[in-house]
Amino acid sequence: MRIVAALLALAFLASGCATKTTDSPTGGTMATVPNGACGALLCNATVTVPHVDARKTLDDLKAFSQAFPYRQSGNPSHVAARDDLEARFTAAGLPVLRQSFERPLGANLPVVAGPTYTGQNVIGIKWGAQRDHFVVIGAHYDVTEGAIYGTYDDGSGTALVFELAAAFAHVATDRTILFCEFDQEELGLVGSAHLLSTFEDHTFPYNGTIDAMLDLDMIGITYPHPAKMVVWQNSPEVKGLVTNLTAAAKVPAAQLEFRKTKGGTSDGATFIAAGIPTAYFWSDWDEYSLPNGQPMPYVGLYVGAYPWWHKVDTYDTMVLAAGNEATLQAGFQTTLDVVSPTLATFASAAFQPTVATDA
Ligand SMILES: [Zn+2]
Repeated sequence: MRIVAALLALAFLASGCATKTTDSPTGGTMATVPNGACGALLCNATVTVPHVDARKTLDDLKAFSQAFPYRQSGNPSHVAARDDLEARFTAAGLPVLRQSFERPLGANLPVVAGPTYTGQNVIGIKWGAQRDHFVVIGAHYDVTEGAIYGTYDDGSGTALVFELAAAFAHVATDRTILFCEFDQEELGLVGSAHLLSTFEDHTFPYNGTIDAMLDLDMIGITYPHPAKMVVWQNSPEVKGLVTNLTAAAKVPAAQLEFRKTKGGTSDGATFIAAGIPTAYFWSDWDEYSLPNGQPMPYVGLYVGAYPWWHKVDTYDTMVLAAGNEATLQAGFQTTLDVVSPTLATFASAAFQPTVATDA
């Protein structure tokens, strides 16, 4: 509800254009808003923003990550997770493409040494009016060695992607949206590199261009929790859009941080390297302490990272990190209230983001 009120108010302030709300086929409320909500970037188009519920997202995330632990190495649980993801897209009414590949194919990270196994991206396709212009929204469903459940990394993004897919399944868009559950991110961004390579060599079943990309990896524990929402990006228009949409979602400006290109070690980096306008959402833990005031323990690569990152990462450790379940849910709602209108705008033909290496 909060996003609807915020966007409508902002829309009237920005442009005075007519707005209307309609019932969503998925049960939420959709707001059709003039793109005045995006500032001067989009003045004459409208986007429909479906509401996605954080409680349902968290319930589905918990069930998915517990049902399919050790999503790595092509083991039976990993394979079963792919079937589950396909079933979720199918239930939403989306056609599904399962894209298999062999290592090594990493684009930006050294591919991890070890035995090879067949990876598979599971992609729900939401056709838009334009069948040759694509927006990719992605997360990775594989987990790293030792993470077991991988509930935050990156069950969080995985669940956000399939919930958004259900919400957008019956929303008219200009561009076609590819809801991508990537495999082998932890082995060097292999799945996302494979998807991109199939566009480049025209082996993807549908010809076209990827106009924008949205990556969700370890995101949801954020405002009203003090952890920042960090957005790695390479486009001034994307930056302006996200600035306005986080303000509409009541995120304090101090809790939004943009980082520049060539950063981030997630699938978004694959698309940034290819010069595609990208927003990679991640929640920051730098210089932040645990809810009990104790400093975050050193966990390897980052001082102050989510303490269970690449360890036994469960729903319960997410609740611990958030402080309590209500704050966890509120942070996921904040994330959805920013990401849903971001995706709706990315899918609008009126949104033509540019790339600037110093964005
Ligand atoms: Zn990750």
